[in-house]
Amino acid sequence: MTQPEDFLTELKAHLSAERERLQRELERLESTRLAGASAYTEDRGYGTHLADDASGTEQEEVDLALEHSVRERLAAVDEALHRFERGHYGVCERCGKEIAAERLRVMPWASLCIECQTKKERPAGHA
Ligand SMILES: [Zn+2]
Repeated sequence: MTQPEDFLTELKAHLSAERERLQRELERLESTRLAGASAYTEDRGYGTHLADDASGTEQEEVDLALEHSVRERLAAVDEALHRFERGHYGVCERCGKEIAAERLRVMPWASLCIECQTKKERPAGHA
């Protein structure tokens, strides 16, 4: 690891804060979804077998998509913190090169260098 120590400390603090923020966000989303689901069935005075009713589904899908992206980000942040523990932080998982500091500053959870990320996103492009 050749990134300066204080820069790494800063990134680690940033990752920990981001992790807490995401966990709170996830809890909020989950409780909103659960509260929304029970309020919905209570309002109608029906049982819980209203799954095929179209109303309310759209918002639910938006919430689920958001929840999914928060989960993904949380997993990436968790992984980055694990890499810190193992001393692999800031090294590209694919090519083993160091990830640029500017990239880590913007995306401290990045596990690939910009080159590998670009290749991953555009697999059809020439290597
Ligand atoms: Zn790479």
